[in-house]
Amino acid sequence: MESKRKDIRALTKEELRDFFVGQGDKAFRGNQVYEWLWIKGAHDFESMTNLSKQTRALLDEHFVINHIAVDQIQKSEDGTLKNAVALHDGLIVESVLIPTETRTTACVSSQVGCSLDCAFCATAQLKRMRNLNPDEIYDQVMAIHKESQLYYNRPLSNIVFMGMGEPLMNYNNVLAAVDKITSKEGLGMSPKRIVVSTSGVPKMIKKLADDEVKFNLAVSLHSAIQETREKIMPFAKRFTLDDLRESLEYWYAKTKRRITYEYVVWKDINDSEEAIDALVKFCQYVPCKVNIIEYNPIGDDQFKQADDATLDRYIKKLEAKRIPVTVRRSRGKDIDAACGQLANKH
Ligand code: SAH
Repeated sequence: MESKRKDIRALTKEELRDFFVGQGDKAFRGNQVYEWLWIKGAHDFESMTNLSKQTRALLDEHFVINHIAVDQIQKSEDGTLKNAVALHDGLIVESVLIPTETRTTACVSSQVGCSLDCAFCATAQLKRMRNLNPDEIYDQVMAIHKESQLYYNRPLSNIVFMGMGEPLMNYNNVLAAVDKITSKEGLGMSPKRIVVSTSGVPKMIKKLADDEVKFNLAVSLHSAIQETREKIMPFAKRFTLDDLRESLEYWYAKTKRRITYEYVVWKDINDSEEAIDALVKFCQYVPCKVNIIEYNPIGDDQFKQADDATLDRYIKKLEAKRIPVTVRRSRGKDIDAACGQLANKH
């Protein structure tokens, strides 16, 4: 019996309206349910209080709501919250709420585990189990939106796809989730407040441009020297810097939106003048800015954050060419919630 009931959130608004008409009710009932599911984020039929008891029972008879459940919330001393999120099949992903004075950002996962092999990232050590479906991505955002109101008394302001997984390897579902997040019948958030971060999958970056997406793009560059990049991000043998460059030029020609390069500076890996010059050169191909991220140790000592003097050398050379550069301090390190630390350790 249980398995025959369909996930109601797989239905479009039209299909929901048709369902009610088929049951001899009004199509309008479908709108009400749709609003409960998406704007209000209801996770059970019982809470849909403007529906009659019979209607709620009818829904329960035909459908389930396959929703996520926040299993555990950890709070960092800097205010960052990390959610361990249980999916309907028992798998777990993590998402993070990052409050600053002016914004509240949700950092969400797109896959369970990751198929890429960045040597410095904890998520890469987990096998990729599966893609998240659009609802599971949407639910993470909704859960953080509610937590933002509960803990910080303000709505969510920004979303970054920088949690577990490679968003462009789950392309359709990520775009479907963004559609819902930006829809007036969902969270109604502006796509300008959303960043999708990719390790750099050239074909998919071009597809984003062709699909005329309106959100921002960040690329985890970490090195503009092919040989070095391959060492720390082995998949870069397939997705070369030349192809990446070409895809970014394509993106910019179509979207006219500049790209953010994420960049960690490690001792003895990319702290040479040659590495800096290569980045400065790469930054001249397409309008961009550079976000230098602090390295978050993941438990082995192969990688060490470079010292501040090295970061300053990077900053000086970039600024000399008028390339905007920011340094991002880590948040939530004490609870393993910072970039690259998401690995379901709880
Ligand atoms: N797969 C996507 C999104 C997830 S990673 C991507 O690669 O962009 C989000 C960011 O954290 C990326 O820029 C990634 O390179 C960076 N990152 C991974 N491990 C890290 C670590 N240990 N310390 C700091 N940043 C890390």
